[in-house]
Amino acid sequence: MKVFKFGGASVSTAEAIRNVARILDMYPDQKVIVISAMGKTTNHLENVVRKYFNKQDFSSYVKAVIDYHNEAIEKLEINEHNLATVHSIFDKLNDRLAKTPSLDFNYEYDQIVSFGELISTSIVSAYLNEIGILNKWVDVRNCIRTDNTYREANVDWELSTQHAKDVFVFGDAQLYVTQGFIGGTVTNQATTLGREGSDFSAAIIANLLDAESVTIWKNVPGVLNADPNDFSDTEKLEELSYKEAIELSYSGAKVIHPKTMKPLRNKHIPLYVRPFENPEEIGTVIREVDSKLELPPIYILKKDQALITLEANDFSFVSVNELSDVFNYFKSKLIKVNLIQQSAIDLSLCIDEPEFDIKEVVDYLSKGFKVRYNSGLSLATIRFYNYESIGRIKEDRQVLMEQKSRRTIKMVLK
Ligand code: ASP
Ligand code: MG
Repeated sequence: MKVFKFGGASVSTAEAIRNVARILDMYPDQKVIVISAMGKTTNHLENVVRKYFNKQDFSSYVKAVIDYHNEAIEKLEINEHNLATVHSIFDKLNDRLAKTPSLDFNYEYDQIVSFGELISTSIVSAYLNEIGILNKWVDVRNCIRTDNTYREANVDWELSTQHAKDVFVFGDAQLYVTQGFIGGTVTNQATTLGREGSDFSAAIIANLLDAESVTIWKNVPGVLNADPNDFSDTEKLEELSYKEAIELSYSGAKVIHPKTMKPLRNKHIPLYVRPFENPEEIGTVIREVDSKLELPPIYILKKDQALITLEANDFSFVSVNELSDVFNYFKSKLIKVNLIQQSAIDLSLCIDEPEFDIKEVVDYLSKGFKVRYNSGLSLATIRFYNYESIGRIKEDRQVLMEQKSRRTIKMVLK
């Protein structure tokens, strides 16, 4: 069996969902398809949660989410009798929002944001059944078991393997439709695996079921050597090793979620990244590669970065003990550290800008250090850099910090 993953853009409208059906028609093997929330639904549900948690009026936000999905349902002309699951999910969302929120934001976030995937998959499943592509809808919260680290849950591989084998039996059904991004605890609370986590979900399911391959269908021809939104002349990479793909995604290439590769590599499952607009094109394959690949310079630009420099108050060194406090603080706030550089008396950290005011971070760190910071920066990475590629990045930009290894250069840019 194979795993196909369709992201938010590939199910964002009725037209896009029809295209999913076309792709499934072309590849009629046994499959699990893993789907993200439609379009920007996750962002919209994040707004709902914020309002709900702060006991503010969220009704217009929820209405917009429901209307958006209803529009797709109407355009897909799905019959009422195929919509029972969709309607019961809408009802559950409304029930949830009628409750008083607990005091745990991350918990509430997962309970509500997970509806994006529950709704998208129930719509796609209903549509496919409607047009004769028979499939079974699976609530993945009962299959991917996680701990209760809400918003960044960790998978319990052993439990999940048992559940997956019970759920995806390929008896009557040859096609299963299920959610990306979400999981469930042993007490049946919804969890999420981190933003953009649906690729990871596809890899988890492939690992649990020993799938033949995973295909991520995207709005790009494959993995490119740069984001076409940032660079004009991009090149498609035919083949990558798992290791190279991890390097790229970890550095901020948005094409694949960084956690995706490990579960696949452990089971030697190849990953294809293919264009959903031209489904006959082969895209990029990621797999174990023995020989050395000849790759061009690969550019990755990570935006919304802040550079924080810490200096000990008394002109001493920044000690390891103090650093563990700093890193624990970042962890508790779900802030990712992307680059670290130490000099004799100061330590600089390039971090993802938090969704709350960066001043909160600076205030916290100022309790222990002298702090300087810049926000609104970018972190550029060039893998397989050469003289020319560095020049291209540095042109008209101020470099605030730079780090180089044999294959990779990273630059914090203003
Ligand atoms: N819907 C989730 C998000 O937007 C997961 C995903 O798209 O992969 O973050
Ligand atoms: Mg998405």
